[in-house]
This record gives sequence, C-alpha cells and structure tokens, in this order.
Amino acid sequence: MAKKHPITVAYGDGIGPEIMEATLRILQEGGAELEIETIEIGEKVYLAGEAAGINEKAWESIRRTKVFLKAPITTPQGGGYRSVNVTIRAAMGLYANVRPCISYAPFVETKHPKMDLVVVRENEEDLYTGIEYQLTPDVCEATKLISRPACEKIIRFAFEYAQHYDRKKVTSFTKDNILKMTDGLFHKVFDEIGEEYPKIEKEHWIVDIGAAKFAHTPENFDVVVLPNLYGDILSDVGAQLSGSVGLGGSANIGEKGAMFEAIHGSAPRYAGKNIANPSALLLGAIQMLLYIQQPEAANRIHNAWLKTLEDGIHTKDIYKEGVSQKKVGTREFADAVVDRLGKRPEKLKAVDYTHLPKHEVTAHTGSHPVSVKRELVGVDVYLYSHDSAQKIQEQLAQLETPSLQLQSITNRGVRVWPEGNPDTICIDQWRCRFQGSSMVSPQVIGSLLHRLADAKMDVIKSVNLYTFDGEPGFSNA
Ligand code: NAD
Repeated sequence: MAKKHPITVAYGDGIGPEIMEATLRILQEGGAELEIETIEIGEKVYLAGEAAGINEKAWESIRRTKVFLKAPITTPQGGGYRSVNVTIRAAMGLYANVRPCISYAPFVETKHPKMDLVVVRENEEDLYTGIEYQLTPDVCEATKLISRPACEKIIRFAFEYAQHYDRKKVTSFTKDNILKMTDGLFHKVFDEIGEEYPKIEKEHWIVDIGAAKFAHTPENFDVVVLPNLYGDILSDVGAQLSGSVGLGGSANIGEKGAMFEAIHGSAPRYAGKNIANPSALLLGAIQMLLYIQQPEAANRIHNAWLKTLEDGIHTKDIYKEGVSQKKVGTREFADAVVDRLGKRPEKLKAVDYTHLPKHEVTAHTGSHPVSVKRELVGVDVYLYSHDSAQKIQEQLAQLETPSLQLQSITNRGVRVWPEGNPDTICIDQWRCRFQGSSMVSPQVIGSLLHRLADAKMDVIKSVNLYTFDGEPGFSNA
C-alpha cells in the first residue's frame, strides 16, 4: 500500500464544496492514499480583509505539502481584490499550465469527436507580468516580456510531457512574423530544444492560422506549447470543443510544488443545487495522483469515470436525450463512479498509467550565462508632444552632438521622419532614435537626457539600444 501523501485541499466557493466533496469521495474509494489538510481561501477570506483571498495559515500548509487541490473560488466584485490564482501561481512559481482537451464522443456531444490533445501554457511571463503604464493622456502600454530561461523551461516541459505520455508531436504557435524578438525567441528555443527529442515530431504555426486549424481540426494536434496569452485563449477553446467546461481539469506545475484544479469557475447560480459536474475537478485530481506517483489509483478512478460516461450516467451539462441514459446530480454521479471502480470503458479508450516511467514530468532551464558581446549604441527617447514630426525634428536637431545623432522619429512604429508619409495619423507619443557612429557611453546618453529636460521637451521614457554580437537588439520602423 502506498504511503499516505499529504496534500492541501480548498473547498472553494459556489459549487466548489459540492464538487470537492464528490471528488474526494471518489479519490478515497478509489484507493488514493492521501493525508488531507483543509484550508480556507476565497470569498470568506477576501471579505475578512485579505486582499489576496489567502491567509498565512493557508500558505503555511501549501508551502509544506507542496501539493494543492483547489476547488474554484469566487472573486468578489469591486476593486482592490487580487486573484488568488494569480497570487498562488506567482508565489509557487507554477510555470506550466497543463490542460488535456479530450472528446468523449459519441457519449458526450461534440463537433470534434476525435480530439485528444494537451495544451501546455507558459504561466509566468508574456503580457501577464502585469507591467502596464499610462504614458500620455492618449497612450497606455503593456510590456510583453519573454525570457530565454522561461522559454527553455516550458518548451522542455512540453517535450518531456510528450515523451512521458507517449505522445507523438509537439506544436508551438507564435506570432514571430511580427514579434520577431519576443515570439521569435520562443520559436528559436522551440527549434533548439526540439532537436534534443529526435523521436518527437515538431511543428510550428503562426498563431492566427494555427488557432484557426486548432478550432477546425483539433484532432491534428497532440501536445501544443504556447506563450502565456495564446495559451490562455487556446486552452479555453480546447476545453469548450470537448463539449463542456465541466470536463476540463488542469495542472499548474512548478519546480517546488503543483496545484490541481478544474478549469471552470465557481458557477454561483448552480451552488447548493447538486447539479454541477464534478468531472473537471476529478480530472485535475487524477493529474495530481500521477504527480504524487499513485498511478494505480489514477488508473482505477479514471477508467471508472470513463465507464460512467459511457454508461450514459450524465450530469445536466452533458445530458442529452437519446444519448444519455440517466440525468444525475453531483452526488449521484460520484456514487456511479464509485460503483464502477475496477471496471474499464469498452468503447472509449481506457487509460493505463501503470507503465509510465517512475518520475514526474519536470523541466530545467538548461540555460547558462553565454558570453555575448553587448554594446551600447544609442537610445530611444519617447516624447509626449502635440507638435508635428517636422517641428519635433527641428527642436531635436539642436540637441544633437557628434557622438549622438537623431536617426529617426516614429509614431506607433511608423517612420514619420525622415521621409514620412504625410497621411500617417499620429498620436501624442513619439519615439526619437539617437545613435552614435560607434559605441556610445552611458554619460553621453545621460547628457542628452539633460539637454532634453533643459529644452523643456517632455520625455516620457528612454530605452537604451544595444547590439548583441553585432546584431541589433531593437526593432526598426
Ligand atoms: P464559471 O466557469 O463559474 O461558470 C460559467 C458557466 O459554465 C456556468 O454558468 C455553467 O453554465 C457552466 N459550468 C461551470 N462549471 C460547471 C460545472 N462544474 N458543471 C456544470 N456546468 C458548469 O464562470 P463565471 O460564471 O464567469 O465565474 C463565476 C465565478 O468564478 C467568478 O467569481 C469568477 O471570478 C470565478 N472563477 C474562478 C476560477 C478559479 O477559481 N479557477 C476560474 C474562473 C472563474
């Protein structure tokens, strides 16, 4: 018998307590060896004055057990409340979000009966770092941050996952035809790391056409690895394609712990009515059993659950006259799964986790400081101004020195000087690029910023321009 594994459990809000009760009952009857510590997070904790919806006692448990099974929670309306999910993800360093998206046709109605894919979403970077500014009355800006270590970690995780679960292909989506540096880095690292896995097929799509193909023929995808924003969107698309959000479980994996949950929220309108589908949370919990090395229990429970679907015992969200046999509530669904423990599905594909390699899927960055020649070659100065490009150029020309010359002025990325198009519609933020004929010093840039301030030019921000081994580390207009 496996040793009991300590886990932290939160019953959450809305339908959370009902689906958690159903899930834990199935886990226990299914032979999962768990030592459960219960914590309170979410609505009550928010309303008690914790802006992040989680208190120190709860943190202490999560930090100790490092395995967290979480029911959905309700974020109260109104400002000032921070998302518990985002807080936990950041604090535990949960870099990978893993969402299997599977169809259960003909037992659950779906337009894509053959879909069987896994979305692996980068969870820490991209536009989700929350670094935003209002720079002028008319302009707001968010930072899309992509780092090599994070790309290496998530992409290696996706390949390791594919290898572990015997999946044949890993696809990545980026928009690197436009975002040549940020998405370009993700794509480049995908190609590099892909070479370490010669037996796995590799594929890359530009995200727009890739997303269209994903929605149209999801059966052509296997493991899909994505930067945070595209992953957020496509993992919901995948879940919806399977027939109900009530069928989507997810794992958030970090280097020092993991969190498992349903993809859906607390569905407050269904709360206390015994109608919610507990399957999403159960599928999240099955991923947890694999993470804590209890594959036998995962097998037994997953196959009993598949058999229940196959027998047409369905909750309201997936019930369909003529296809389903019986409409049941949350508790009765759990009873039906428990009754089928030890059975396997006959038409749906049964799972077999007992032959998996005996380790969890993890990834390291593999990145080491590389020696790159980095040279400062100029500065982009952003101005707030309602003047014309010509007027701005005339003002800036007076501030040039031989070591730092005005090269270009752009507005929303479009060059307006030299040789601008008079039809370009300009907003109140201007990017003015100064470069030297060779390397420039920080002092030269500092003194330009001083001259700009003395000339009463309204500088919003400045960004240094570097080359890396002679290659420009900045985009051109
Ligand atoms: P939701 O996912 O809670 O519900 C949307 C709809 O999906 C429901 O009305 C219902 O029709 C269906 N649904 C969801 N879960 C179901 C289940 N298990 N069985 C059957 N049908 C189900 O989304 P929402 O209504 O936008 O959000 C409600 C609350 O949940 C909000 O406070 C939101 O902040 C929170 N939320 C929490 C999480 C989380 O904790 N991870 C995720 C998303 C939303």
